[in-house]
Amino acid sequence: MSQRPDQSQQIDELMGAFFAQARAQFGPVVKTYWFYAGDLCPGCSQPTDGVMKFKGKDALSLNAYIYRERGVLIGYLLCKTCAKTIHTAAQKNPYRQIPLHTQIEQFLSAAYLHHIRKEQA
Ligand SMILES: [Zn+2]
Repeated sequence: MSQRPDQSQQIDELMGAFFAQARAQFGPVVKTYWFYAGDLCPGCSQPTDGVMKFKGKDALSLNAYIYRERGVLIGYLLCKTCAKTIHTAAQKNPYRQIPLHTQIEQFLSAAYLHHIRKEQA
């Protein structure tokens, strides 16, 4: 599924760091983590390569969301357009949820449930 061998190690390291941070902040509410490695952007459902041009160089725009009902920290990448939308909104209102966040969370929750159902099958 992953065609990003150059990025996968970086993603593993980042997910580990995100998970440690979430555990420190939220405690046992966060039981595990999972990285969404699908080909569609969770924001707009368009194909994405997950790499955003940032300050002149390629940077991974790795984000994470806690799916509380399942106690899982879900890491994900956004397409350039969605990453820019989130970034711009965050600069205006740093702690405000925008509709795109809701869209992303619904997408990832469904993707995670699909993933664990496949694992159990
Ligand atoms: Zn997108």
